[in-house]
Amino acid sequence: MAGGGGRPSRGARVVLCPLPFQGHLSPMLHLAGALHARGLAVTVLHTAFNAPDPVHHPAGLAFVAVPDAIPEAVAATTNGITKILALNAAMEASGHVRDALASLLAEEGAPPLACLIFDSSVSAAQNAAAGLGLPTLVLQTGSAACFRLFRSDTYDMLHDKGYLPATESNLHMPVKELPPLQVRDLFDPSKLPNKEIGHKILNRATETTTKSSGAILNTFEALESHELEMIQDQLAHKGIPPFAVGPLHKLITSNDGGTETSLLNQDRSCIEWLDTQAPGSVLYVSFGSVVHVTQDEFMEMAWGLANNGNPFLWVVRRGLVLGVDKQELPDGFMSAVEGRGKVIEWAPQQEVLAHPAVGGFWTHNGWNSTLESIYEGVPMLSRPIFGDQLPTARYVHDTWKIGILLEGVLERGEVEKAIKKLMDEDEGVEIRKRAKDLKEKLRMCLEGSGSSQQAVDKLVDHILSL
Ligand code: UDP
Repeated sequence: MAGGGGRPSRGARVVLCPLPFQGHLSPMLHLAGALHARGLAVTVLHTAFNAPDPVHHPAGLAFVAVPDAIPEAVAATTNGITKILALNAAMEASGHVRDALASLLAEEGAPPLACLIFDSSVSAAQNAAAGLGLPTLVLQTGSAACFRLFRSDTYDMLHDKGYLPATESNLHMPVKELPPLQVRDLFDPSKLPNKEIGHKILNRATETTTKSSGAILNTFEALESHELEMIQDQLAHKGIPPFAVGPLHKLITSNDGGTETSLLNQDRSCIEWLDTQAPGSVLYVSFGSVVHVTQDEFMEMAWGLANNGNPFLWVVRRGLVLGVDKQELPDGFMSAVEGRGKVIEWAPQQEVLAHPAVGGFWTHNGWNSTLESIYEGVPMLSRPIFGDQLPTARYVHDTWKIGILLEGVLERGEVEKAIKKLMDEDEGVEIRKRAKDLKEKLRMCLEGSGSSQQAVDKLVDHILSL
């Protein structure tokens, strides 16, 4: 355990249990910082696997590690659903989370434990808390739209109405109950090798919410007001209040105690390089921490970037290309892009997006990347790969209209054209303007009396009332 801090001003303690993957760990750790800044004592209960480093968090946070990890054979697979199920199974079998919660509950002299806040994918932690009579609140790290979508009752409706299973002929059909989504944006459990797994995940997502005393969403009112209203309606009669507290990465300022959540070393040389580029000229390219592209797609990306002629900063993280640890760049690529292209393994992404030289973000539309881009007013070139990325990209393109969607087989000529559209052409002017407008709305949500700050106040009151 590290930290512990002084006595919290609100006289209560919460324990937070993240899913140990970058896109899930970061929002939970930012939430930990925000609750701590509001006067709650906070303990982060995490796996030894992908453990956060206490040094990078406010001194008052306490960290407790449990040895549960993903079995090595499962860690090697590229299937995220398999990993999540294996982690939960390991946690249930070992009882380590339950034991850790029991000793936190029994700790003498510590403020009383009010609840467990858990990542929606770590249902094992919720079960352990329930066994000990500890209330739970679920953190949804994706959008409100995806929170509505990934539920078993929504999927029952999608099947009943004939949208799913998807067929070649209905892929472009609008899902009129869930605008702006189309059938091709939906996760289709029937396409998984083991259909039962898809249903299991959806059932769990529904159950974790139903069994919670509240749902915390990493989104903000001005972005998803309609979706939040629908969620409010859906959950109200079950007595489960939703709290739209996002974007969590900007909820507190660094003056409140800095939080650095990156699991990989960030290559900061890219900031100096960006300093040498013209304002708004650089396309930042990154597909987050987990998705893969094929060797062919990688080549089309590379030559699309090279042929376009625009400056770019490209994150080619280890493992990005399916089955390859460290991907080589194609012959002749670096000389073709000399002076206007930089390739790194991992970026200080938020700083990159905030840099005046960056004018566009080619992204897979992971929810954190999307929020980080919106926060900086950077328009997006969307290339979603799976799961929640597809609906998010549809919202970016059709609802918020702050990006261009790159669909179908990835081909260098199309890449070249899409970048030109986003960075240079008339269509890009409107998209860029809307991205700047949305940025202003977001900033207002984060101000003292903004909707997200109010939601955190309500969340803290709710926690104290449990
Ligand atoms: N990220 C980063 N450096 C990089 C690429 C990504 O720090 O070079 C961070 C990014 O800022 C974001 C997270 O990794 O917070 C990725 O989360 P997201 O939800 O976008 O995608 P995921 O990795 O879960 O697919």
